[in-house]
Amino acid sequence: MTHLTLQAVTKQFGAARAVDSVDLTVPDGKLVCFLGPSGCGKTTLLRMIAGLEMPSAGSITFAGNDITRVPANQRDFGMVFQSLALFPHMTVAENIAYPLKLRKTGKTEQTRRVAELLDLIQLPHMAARPVTQLSGGQRQRVAIARAIASSPKLLLLDEPLSALDAKLREAMQVEIRLLQQRLGITTIMVTHDQREAMTMADLIVVMEKGRIAQVGKPLDIYRDPVSEFVADFIGLGNILPVTFDGRGGASLPGGTQITVASPARGLDARGDLRLLIRPEDVHVRTANDAVPQTPRANCLPGTVTFIRDVGASLEATIDCAGFTLTAATTPRETPGLELGMPVMAELPAHACKLIAARTAVH
Ligand code: ATP
Repeated sequence: MTHLTLQAVTKQFGAARAVDSVDLTVPDGKLVCFLGPSGCGKTTLLRMIAGLEMPSAGSITFAGNDITRVPANQRDFGMVFQSLALFPHMTVAENIAYPLKLRKTGKTEQTRRVAELLDLIQLPHMAARPVTQLSGGQRQRVAIARAIASSPKLLLLDEPLSALDAKLREAMQVEIRLLQQRLGITTIMVTHDQREAMTMADLIVVMEKGRIAQVGKPLDIYRDPVSEFVADFIGLGNILPVTFDGRGGASLPGGTQITVASPARGLDARGDLRLLIRPEDVHVRTANDAVPQTPRANCLPGTVTFIRDVGASLEATIDCAGFTLTAATTPRETPGLELGMPVMAELPAHACKLIAARTAVH
């Protein structure tokens, strides 16, 4: 059992509480993402796990030992920061060997391990190259190789890809994920990019104002967000104020009535609710489609006011009376869609989720 457990971990900076009573178990061998907007406490939480920041309250255990007050250099965790912090005056091999040197690993073993890691990060011929002569992606890989050189039990990554351009960033997400899975190394990564978290994580911890808003598998969070905040932060969504009759009938802005899935357990049906429907669940029907004989439930008339057609996917904004919907489809599925066109937007009842409206956390 090596798993990491946080209990009521709190960090106070003066009057401000950056992390507020966080309870969390990080399962072995998994990649966990701390995700949330700027200032929600992700980095502070990671730094407490690393031992770079002491909690004001609460405890951190790893492999059954209380490590709350153990200094960073005695935790045996690998870290990669946003800045990477590679040593510019050293070669690739010297950078990777650095943590091994610190641990007084024998020269032969150092050489063997560096060669192994260079193969792993697919830079076998770059050992002697100064790190200043590497591309952004190559530097990134060297930073990761250095972080895992001494076989840490936990790898901590703080926005490691934020300096890369979009395309390289996406490629590195896949690369790091494959590497992590191959090594089976328990990893925690901080990111504010929900797409990155969805791509890489086994488990996402969504944070809001120092607290955990939701923990779950990426798709579970996407499909069943517990609140408006989480729904809004994870992926695109249509989020509309709604009144619910408690039995399945809901009234949208402008008075349109539709049928929806019941609110999640524990949610007050008479409370302040929002309707969530993801864009890919909004079906757009044009006059070209076969029109059903009887009017279909949950089909709302509207007008197309914007189209983003990027070839592989198509996003349409539809102005319905009283509210706007975004629908995600493909040019193939919805041929001939044009600006100003009258359409029917179908909101299947099973895809209409009721969630609690956003409230202030503090
Ligand atoms: P970002 O994505 O912008 O890095 P974050 O979610 O990682 O944000 P933190 O860096 O953990 O957020 O900061 C959480 C809060 O704690 C912020 O309000 C920040 O200003 C505050 N904070 C962080 N470090 C300190 C510090 N050393 N002293 C005082 N306040 C701090």
